[in-house]
Amino acid sequence: MMNKIIDLLSDLLGLTSREQWSEIISSKAHSLPIKNHRAATLAKRTTIFSWIFAVLVPAWSIIDYIFLLYDLWFQLAILRVISGALFIGIAINCKRYGSSLKSAFIHLTLLLYIPTSFYLIATPILSEINFSGLSGALVNIYSLLPFLVIAALTVFALTITELLIITFPLIIITFWSLYPETEVDISNSFMFIWLFLLLLGTSFFSSISQMRYMISQVTRASFDTLTNAMTRRAGIESLELYIRMAQLQNNHLSLLFIDLDHFKSLNDEHGHDAGDTSLKGAVSALKECTRKGDSIIRWGGEEFIVLLPNADTNDAQRVIHRIFEQGLGYRPEGKQLTSSMGLAELIEDNIKNWKTLVELADQRMYYAKESGRARCIGAENKIIGQASD
Ligand code: GH3
Ligand code: MG
Ligand code: MG
Repeated sequence: MMNKIIDLLSDLLGLTSREQWSEIISSKAHSLPIKNHRAATLAKRTTIFSWIFAVLVPAWSIIDYIFLLYDLWFQLAILRVISGALFIGIAINCKRYGSSLKSAFIHLTLLLYIPTSFYLIATPILSEINFSGLSGALVNIYSLLPFLVIAALTVFALTITELLIITFPLIIITFWSLYPETEVDISNSFMFIWLFLLLLGTSFFSSISQMRYMISQVTRASFDTLTNAMTRRAGIESLELYIRMAQLQNNHLSLLFIDLDHFKSLNDEHGHDAGDTSLKGAVSALKECTRKGDSIIRWGGEEFIVLLPNADTNDAQRVIHRIFEQGLGYRPEGKQLTSSMGLAELIEDNIKNWKTLVELADQRMYYAKESGRARCIGAENKIIGQASD
């Protein structure tokens, strides 16, 4: 039974593998470019929505004023002004601090919790009074607030966990407030709950589909199809992000510039396809020598950058030794495929931006080429690693 439901959902969402399921369940399985892109999109949309609500929610007081009695209007106006101020706070704060996925998500959650709280506070105030005519119609609009929040979810690309975090309080509150108190209410409550669930399902579907589309687009633009290393464009975004984070927290950040040795001759002697296979093998080997949080970027044809966050030169040296020990695979004629590397580190080399960091590692790599290849050069042009044979 459970398997059947999962199969049906897989078909509906177009999911074909376990990995794709993990991707829609939580952002843990997402690659760095996806996290970055989603954080930027969520933060941007949260900021826009916050500004819109910051204006519209207090402005609605004018309509309240026309149709509701003064006392009630006043109570709601206070709520509206407080909400407006909170929306402004979220908009400003999100623009400033929303660059990480966690922070963008927290701002979005707060944004959507405000109308939920508004609904929670306004419902008892409104239910004390019997309304008729136009004021009755206006008060009915208040009961649609949970629907507004659920509908707003359709504009955000979210995982199932995130959707549940955002909607859980809303679901509880809605069911609680719609619980029929008299028999007359039953049909009305039933209709509302049915509509609420229908809208909830549609919004979840739309939000998840958006995220899947985003993942496929970002993956296509961020990972090189031949080697599966990060593309230069996505690599620059990661470099910018990691440098900013390292500078904020005064952390180390090491960068290795790697150029494969005598690669042209490999192509010339064994053909381009053999060259492609060796490139793929070299990236797989680099992956095995690095940690999960490290990034491997294909900077150019047979040039790569390995970015090691939170790694000082000693940590980087361990990675370099692993690379030389394990090797980057073999050339078709059977010899080791070697590389020349340059290492630069943010703090020890006193560097301010990613371009200088890359340039310095690149210069050291050139020195490694000139001084005999198959080695890594660090500060003061010292050899800090070498192929064993
Ligand atoms: P050096 O040790 O000085 O780096 O020598 P090299 O021959 O590796 O240096 P060079 O930069 O002159 O040559 C790089 C070669 O890499 C040239 C190009 O044919 C090859 N190359 C670049 N991209 C690809 C690719 O995607 N596939 C294949 N098969 N070869 C590539
Ligand atoms: Mg080259
Ligand atoms: Mg080369």
